[in-house]
Amino acid sequence: MERLSSFVLGRWHAAAGDLSTLVDPTSEAPLAQAGSGGIDFRAVLAFARERGGPALRQLTFAERGKLLAGIAGAIHAQRDELIEVSIQSGGTTRGDAKFDIDGAIGTLTFYAGLAEKLGTKPYLLDGAGVQLGRTPRFFGQHVLVPRQGVAVHVNAFNFPAWGMMEKAACALLAGMPVLEKPGTPTALLAWRIAQLVVDKAGLPEGAYQVVIGSLGDALDHLGPQDVLAFTGSSATGAKLRGHPNVVRHNVRVNIEADSLNAAVLAPDVDPSSETFGLFLNNVALDMTQKTGQKCTAVRRILVPSDKVAMVRDELVAALARIVVGDPADKATRMGPLASKSQLDEVRAGIERLAKAGTIACGGSKPVHAKGWFVAPTLIVANDGRNPVFHAEEVFGPVAVLLPYSGDAREAASIVNLGGGGLVCSAYSNDAAWNQTFALEAAPWHGRVWLASDKLADQALPPGMVLPQMVHGGPGRAGGGEELGAERGLAFYQQRTALQGFQGHLQAL
Ligand code: NAP
Repeated sequence: MERLSSFVLGRWHAAAGDLSTLVDPTSEAPLAQAGSGGIDFRAVLAFARERGGPALRQLTFAERGKLLAGIAGAIHAQRDELIEVSIQSGGTTRGDAKFDIDGAIGTLTFYAGLAEKLGTKPYLLDGAGVQLGRTPRFFGQHVLVPRQGVAVHVNAFNFPAWGMMEKAACALLAGMPVLEKPGTPTALLAWRIAQLVVDKAGLPEGAYQVVIGSLGDALDHLGPQDVLAFTGSSATGAKLRGHPNVVRHNVRVNIEADSLNAAVLAPDVDPSSETFGLFLNNVALDMTQKTGQKCTAVRRILVPSDKVAMVRDELVAALARIVVGDPADKATRMGPLASKSQLDEVRAGIERLAKAGTIACGGSKPVHAKGWFVAPTLIVANDGRNPVFHAEEVFGPVAVLLPYSGDAREAASIVNLGGGGLVCSAYSNDAAWNQTFALEAAPWHGRVWLASDKLADQALPPGMVLPQMVHGGPGRAGGGEELGAERGLAFYQQRTALQGFQGHLQAL
C-alpha cells in the first residue's frame, strides 16, 4: 500500500508514527497510509521563515504570479490523472472531481492574472495618502507589507485541490511561504498535487511545504509574524483559535467553518417562470453535488406555506433522477460520502432532523451493501423556526423544507437563525422584496445571492465560490474572510500607517 510522504525541509519525509489508513469510499478497500511522525515542526516553520519567506519577498508580484501560473499549469497537465485519483480516493463523480480540480486551477490562474496588475514594489498602497499637518509636508499613507512568518493552512477533507490552492495562491502572491495540511481522509489527491508542485512549479526552497497527516506540535511553535488559516468544522476551529500559544502570540487566525446555507423562494415567483426553474435546479444541484459535502451547499429551503407541497413534489421528482452509485460509472450522479465517520454523522443527523418533520425522500438507511452511500434526503419541517433545523450542519445530501409567510423580513429572520452563514440565496423578480431581504440577511452572511428572470440564463450557482468575491461568513461560519481578489492578500500582509515628510513617503 502507498505510504504518503510529506514534503518538508526541502525533501520528502516518509510516512511514520501512528499511521491513518485512507480508504476508497466506494469499495471500502484500503488505498494508502499517512502519518507525520518524526517531523521536527519547529525546524519546518523556521525553514519556511528563513528560506521561503526571504526568497518570495525578493520577487515582484508579477514574478510571484508566474509561480502561481506554473502551479496551475502543472496541475492542468495532469488533470485526467488527478480526476481519477479524486474519484477513487474521494468518492467523487467525474463532475465533482472537476469542480475541485478546476476550482484550484481557476483560482491560481485568476491570482496569476491579478499579480500582473499589482506593480513591481514590494508592498501595496492601501487607499490614498492624507495630509496630517498644517501643510501637506506632514503626510500619512497606509501600506500593506508581507508578514515575515509562515502561513499554516489547515484544510478540510472535502476540497483537497481547491481548498489547498485557494489559500496557497493568496499567501504566495502576498509573499508568505506556506505549510499546507490537507484533511487526511482524502489526502491522496492533495499529496499527488504536492508532488506536481514540488517537481514542476519551480518554487523557491521553503516556499511550499506540505504535511500529510497530523500537524503534530506545529502550533506550539507559531510566532507573532505567522498566520493560521483553517477550514473545517467549527469545533476544530474553536480548538485551534484557542490554542494557548496562538493566543499568547496573537497569531493571526482565519476560520472558515460550517454553515447552514439557505435558499429562499419569494411569493412572487410563478412556477412557470425561469426563476422557479433556476431555484429547483440550484437546490437539487447544491444538495447532491459532492454528495452534499460542500461548505456552501443548501441545508435549509424556505418556501411560502402555500407552495410547500408543490415544491416538495418537484424536488422529490428531481432528486429521484439522481443515480446514486459507483462514481466511476458515467451514469452516476452522486457518489458515496468520503469516510465512514461522515456516513455515521450524516445518518445520525438525518434521524435528528426527521424527529421534527416528515421525510419526503431518502432517509438514513444505507443505499448499497458496500460503500458509504446515503440517498438524497429531503425533510419537510413541521415548524420553520424549530431550533433543531438551525442548530447543526448535516454535512451530506440533506436539506429541510421550511414554511414561512412570504414576507421578506420574516424570511431573513428565519435564515439568520443559522447564527451566521457563508451564503444565502433568494429567488424573486420583485426588486423591493430582494432589497429588503438582502439588507436584512447581509449582516449575517458573507455572500447574498439574488436570482431573478433577468439573469436566469447566465448566473453561476450560489454554491460556487469565485475568486473575485469574498468567501467566509460571520458567527457559526467562522468569522473569517478569504479571496475577494486583492482583499484575499490582506490576511498575509501587515497594514502599517506610515507618517512622515511627504517627500520621503512619496519617494518610497
Ligand atoms: P475537521 O474535522 O474540523 O477537520 C478539518 C481539518 O482540521 C483537517 O485537516 C483535520 O485533520 C484538522 N484537525 C482536526 N483536529 C485538529 C487539531 N487538533 N489540530 C490541528 N488540526 C486538526 O473538518 P472536516 O471533517 O475535515 O471538514 C468538514 C467541515 O468543514 C464541515 O463542517 C464543512 O462545513 C467545513 N468546511 C468549511 C468550508 C468553508 O470554506 N467555510 C469549506 C469546506 C469545509 P485530519 O483530517 O487529519 O483530522
